[in-house]
Order: sequence, then structure tokens, then C-alpha cells
Amino acid sequence: MKAAWDWHLPRETETEQRELVEFVDGCGFDTLIINNPTHTMLSRGRELGLKVVAIVKPPTADDLSEPDPESRQRMLPVEEELAGTLARGVPRGYQECSFRWYPLFQSAELLCFESPVARELLETRVREALQRANGIAFDGFGFRNHYACFCPRCEEMRTNREKRGEDLSDVEVLTATSEDSLINLSTHIYDFAKAINPDAVVTNHLWPPFRPNPYYGHRLKLDYCSQTISWFYRPVWSLARVELEAKEMKQREDPETNRFVPFIGLHDRPGMVRPPERINEELAIARRYGDGNLVFCTLSAVKAHSEIRKVLQDALKKD
Ligand SMILES: [Zn+2]
Repeated sequence: MKAAWDWHLPRETETEQRELVEFVDGCGFDTLIINNPTHTMLSRGRELGLKVVAIVKPPTADDLSEPDPESRQRMLPVEEELAGTLARGVPRGYQECSFRWYPLFQSAELLCFESPVARELLETRVREALQRANGIAFDGFGFRNHYACFCPRCEEMRTNREKRGEDLSDVEVLTATSEDSLINLSTHIYDFAKAINPDAVVTNHLWPPFRPNPYYGHRLKLDYCSQTISWFYRPVWSLARVELEAKEMKQREDPETNRFVPFIGLHDRPGMVRPPERINEELAIARRYGDGNLVFCTLSAVKAHSEIRKVLQDALKKD
């Protein structure tokens, strides 16, 4: 899979939607991953032999018709308070000047992945996406506090695990149960999607990070697990780190569970566009560890800078 994951190119009119798909095809990608793909995108993609995959987000409290405290992901009281303080507002430009690109908490009121309500909503979302798209790409599946949910259901799961006598510390029980919860959800939804369409692409971007084990992606049941080897934001990771991340993820890969796909993030915001020579080096690392698979996100810088487009086109031609 050579996928462009896009949030930014214009898509209001049918002409723009067709042009978007043609642009992706012209770059040399074989897949477009996008939010709410339209019939026009699918139809132009089919003509060009390009797959169009729908982004699927996790259910949040806003998806419920009435409040349901039992289905909400819970954080510790102190975390809820801090999240509330942050939600009340930070100064404009704070994220950029403080380099806090990884938020302390996910701001959306996510539902607990163990709750039947969340699973049902997610199944509906997947079913609807697959009625149209060639596949699904999960984004944003994780814990609000990046390590655990403290709802009564999750607390009970931890208590039950303690009773198994696995000789784990409290922290180990907490993190192992959390990681298993993410893995079980992905297996459930993968099977659900494949039962609807065995040919559907099931992929993701590993985000938000799971702090106890940032490299848990190899355990997620998917066709392709895309994991960040170069991040959008400054400070730019050294090429040595880019290579280290790719190598680490590749060596953990279990092809029976998923294929590791290097994810390269590039924003068009001022000060965030990396030079084409640098992108070229990142793409070379991606090729070394990705077996020809790549997710490149997003397309605004590729559209705005012909030199970046050129290195991307040349790299995508190589496999
Ligand atoms: Zn929970």
C-alpha cells in the first residue's frame, strides 16, 4: 500500500474531488485515505485503479443522543480537572511556542472501548464506511490520558486480572490490561469489517500514543499498521532517529498480524515544511524498512512545492 492520507486539499465541488483523486494518482500513490470519501472520489478512483479508504474515528460522547456516564472513558479525578482547565483555553499559539505537540489529554470525550455502546456505534460507522469505500483507516484510537481508562468496567477487568495470579505489579496489571483492551478492539473490528467485505483494506495511523508501550502497533489486527517515522512538528527528528524508529517497528513486525507501514507526516504550515532533500532521505528510510509500503500525510505541502512532489514521485516509482 502506497497511501496518501489527506486532510487539506480542497474537496467542496465534484471537480475538486476528481482533481484531488487525480493528484494522488499523479504522485504515484495507489491509495487515498480521506475523511468521508464521496461517490465522485470513489468513482474517479475506480477509473484510475486507485483505492479510496475512509478514515474512521472512535465514538465520543457527542455521538450519543443522551448522556451515558457508564460508557464514557474515565480518567483520574486530577486528570479530569487538568483536562477541564486546558479546555477552558490556553493562549493563542501556546502549542507552537511551548512545543507541546503531544497534548496532555485527548480533548474529545471518548467512549470506553469496552462499553457495548461504543462497540455498537463503531460497528455502525464501519458498516456505513464500507458501503461506499474500499476500506477503513482508524485514527484517534487510544486512551484520553494515553495509558488507561478508570471506568467501573475497566476497573473490574483489572481486578479480575489480579486474581489470575500472573505475578504482575499494580502498574503492570494496569498497562497490560489497557494494551489488551486496544488489541481486542482492533481484532473485533477487523473481523467485523472483513465479514462485510473480505477485500476491504483495514489500516490505521497509530495515534494517539500509548505511553506504556509506544511500540505496541505490531499487535494490532490490521492489514497495514502505519506508524510514525517522521513527525509533522518541530523540532525535526534527526535522520538517525527516523531510521531508529523505522528499524524498531520493522523488527517487531509480525506479518500474520499486520504489515508495518512507515508514516511520514508533513505540514504546509510556516516553518514546518522540510526541504525536498530531507524528504528524499526519509523516503529512502521508509523504503528500506517498509517493503514498498508508505503512508504520506498530508498533501498540502506536496501540492504547494513541486520539488517535494518530484522526490515523492521518484520514490514511489521505485518499487
Ligand atoms: Zn473503561
